[in-house]
Amino acid sequence: MKRIICLILLSLTILSVPLICKLNIKNTANAANQPIMSIVIDDFGSYDQSGVETLLKCKVPLTCAIMPNVDNSESNFKTISELGHEVILHMPMQSHVNLPENWYGPVYIANYDTPEAAKTKLEKCMKQFQNIKGFNVHIGSGVTRNKKLMTAIYEFAKEHNLYFLDSRTIETHATEEACKDTNSIYLGRDVFLEADKNRSYSGVKFRLNEAAQIAKEKGYAIAIGHVGAEGGENTAKAILDTLPEIEKMGVKIVPLSEIYEKLKSESK
Ligand SMILES: [Zn+2]
Repeated sequence: MKRIICLILLSLTILSVPLICKLNIKNTANAANQPIMSIVIDDFGSYDQSGVETLLKCKVPLTCAIMPNVDNSESNFKTISELGHEVILHMPMQSHVNLPENWYGPVYIANYDTPEAAKTKLEKCMKQFQNIKGFNVHIGSGVTRNKKLMTAIYEFAKEHNLYFLDSRTIETHATEEACKDTNSIYLGRDVFLEADKNRSYSGVKFRLNEAAQIAKEKGYAIAIGHVGAEGGENTAKAILDTLPEIEKMGVKIVPLSEIYEKLKSESK
């Protein structure tokens, strides 16, 4: 009888080994295939801090784009870094139409800048923040149409091991072409949380769900929202309240560098 029990136990042990291995592999594959989504928040640093306090209660990793050399650049950078969110530079660049100078802050890339001047300005602004992962554009509809400048911007990103996020606000052929010519990884915005200037709470919730749906379809999605006048408290509250729904959809919120690394490894 003892021998039979021993044999049964032995065969169960042998059978369970491949079973456990298979389960482990399945778990790993699931984790790797989970749709991911980044929530990038523009306009940190600005004098208008509406939404900042609420948004920073967020328990998932946000990607915070901070304007350089303005009222709250340094204090926002300090708080955001301490909380462990990802920081990127929100680099002011000139529009294709005339706008008041103070919309850009003291240092911005102008439409008439040479590629060298643009790189020098980026370098200067980057220095204000440490451990920065990448950058995107504040305003900039003039510069992002300029292929020479966009090429310099992608070159700068490569030289400094940074990613560049195209907000896709207007005509972006120059950006996409410059990205291809410099053999860079293209990161483009999928959804604006306050699209069509709809800054209502329900509008932002709707866009967040839309972004999560895109993530489920193509594997990843990038949403951009705002603190301050372009978004503020409604955007912040809508994000906090929608996070559990996004999680239920099986979509994981990640820092933008994680999407960048995923695309980089897929391009090899
Ligand atoms: Zn901005």
